[in-house]
Amino acid sequence: MSRKVLIVGGVAGGATAAARLRRLDEEARIIMYEKGDYISFANCGLPYHIGDVIRDKEKLTLQTPESFSQRYNVDVRIKSEVIGINRQDRTVTVKNHLSGEIYQEAYDVLILSPGAEPVVPPIEGARLDAVFTLRTIPDTLKIKEYIQRNKPRRAAVIGAGYIGMEMAENLHNLGLDVSIIELADHVIQPLDPDMAAEVHHHILGKGISLHLGKAVTAIKPSEAGYLLALSSGESIPADMVILAVGVRPESALAREAGLETGTRGCIVTNNRMQTSDPYIYAVGDAVEVVDFVTGEKVFVPLASPANKQGRIAADNICGLDSVYGGTQGTAILKVFDMTVAVTGGNERTLTAAGVDFEKSYTFSPSHADYYPGAAYMTIKLLFDRKTSVILGAQIIGRQGVDKRIDVLAAAIRARMKVQDLAELELAYAPPFGSAKDPVNIAGYVASNIQNGSMRIFHWHDAYRIDLSRSILLDVRTEAEFKKGSLTGAINIPLDSLRDRLDELDRNKPVFVFCQVGLRGYIASRILMQKGFNQVFNLSGGYRLYKMVTSN
Ligand code: FAD
Repeated sequence: MSRKVLIVGGVAGGATAAARLRRLDEEARIIMYEKGDYISFANCGLPYHIGDVIRDKEKLTLQTPESFSQRYNVDVRIKSEVIGINRQDRTVTVKNHLSGEIYQEAYDVLILSPGAEPVVPPIEGARLDAVFTLRTIPDTLKIKEYIQRNKPRRAAVIGAGYIGMEMAENLHNLGLDVSIIELADHVIQPLDPDMAAEVHHHILGKGISLHLGKAVTAIKPSEAGYLLALSSGESIPADMVILAVGVRPESALAREAGLETGTRGCIVTNNRMQTSDPYIYAVGDAVEVVDFVTGEKVFVPLASPANKQGRIAADNICGLDSVYGGTQGTAILKVFDMTVAVTGGNERTLTAAGVDFEKSYTFSPSHADYYPGAAYMTIKLLFDRKTSVILGAQIIGRQGVDKRIDVLAAAIRARMKVQDLAELELAYAPPFGSAKDPVNIAGYVASNIQNGSMRIFHWHDAYRIDLSRSILLDVRTEAEFKKGSLTGAINIPLDSLRDRLDELDRNKPVFVFCQVGLRGYIASRILMQKGFNQVFNLSGGYRLYKMVTSN
């Protein structure tokens, strides 16, 4: 007899599971329930519809219930909410929000892909008309309508995660004055603060007002719009507010059915996406995943894992042996003219997991810099201090960031070492890359650190240097030195270093630096080979130091 599969949720994980099931089993009876009005829509495109970048609303709906049903022979039921699971008799209770009817439907297998809902913090004013969250197409249309009708001049975005940052940019592009308020000390939490510093400079340069390390305690109507009260005592005026303080798994249905839940209330599954009930699978934002790098149980709500897990659940239901290998949080974000991308662990997650790691920073052009249009990108690599295995990467730049983060994401998946990056043969012609690709360069630098041919110090170590016992050596040009340097540094430009070695005391440790790290490396190699025993190069150079400390 053909199997009957019910799916809860008709977007990323749910629709993927349905399509894969059908491709594997032409005879299965598949019913997909979606409590909202739309299935398979482009959540990720919503901020860009608000910003008029994606003008046509129809472009957001990748499939309609009719087109999906026709292609995959799936019974798609929108406005249909699954409100209960009866595991004993393997039925679900469904509420049809159009007719009000409540009915039972039996299943052989159930797949849950209910996603994650925006968190609305318990603060005064969070439910006011001009305060919005963004998850669905109706949310998007509500925000668009509000803007068109009320012509707001000022917007406040609470929360500087991916959605908050995208909304800030899109509202700014519509001509609104935008303030971002973020509780943490930096934007985009998967980034480390030192990398986020560059993003702060960029968005401030665009005229965004940025309030870090502050909580919004209330949103109050005022004579002209609204006033946001901050924990710092300040007030920020706004005509509309976007709440983007994060999402939480929609796991109430699973929890009420007695399925095991874990991290932050996520549904627990095995690596075949099977819950604690073997007849129920769960995928997407609502499930707990294993961090591919640290092995910790985590909540990482992203589209790519949801899609993969939907496919894996369908495979297993149809008897294919398919397993989910964990999530590494690979993500990319456009922040005005900048591209920000991350994969794997960051300093916070690695430290929390007790991993002993080292880090390197490199600054490389997106393609040969003699060919027009090259833009520099900063790559931060995190790797295991003992084994050299790559643990994480963060890149900030403009063009070409996407392909480098994907190479590094693949390298992390393959558990490659930094030395392997140096060996990668990547596509090169001047308009596209360099014979030494930024990924190769990151690999060379990290390999140098690991094999001891370069010892480094970091921007946060600079404060601890005892200038009475050490030499702080700026090897940039005199002109660069005059524009600003580390306090207490002496200047011997790299090209005259060999002739001026006698000016340096060989018995003292030498802390060398240049603008981005390359000249400092060359200088440190000269010094090490000329009898200086303790030579350290500033990783990321003065540029990174200045970026972080002036932030
Ligand atoms: P969803 O896609 O949220 O689908 C779950 C569906 O289940 C919902 O439509 C919900 O209505 C329905 N549902 C819930 N409970 C029930 C029930 N009881 N009965 C019936 N239906 C139910 N990720 C990225 O990787 N990159 C991006 O650029 C990106 N941008 C984003 C931008 C925005 C504005 C948003 C909101 C999300 C973005 N995401 C992005 C996240 C990405 O969309 C999610 O990770 C992904 O959609 C998760 O898929 P899912 O199937 O778990 O949940």
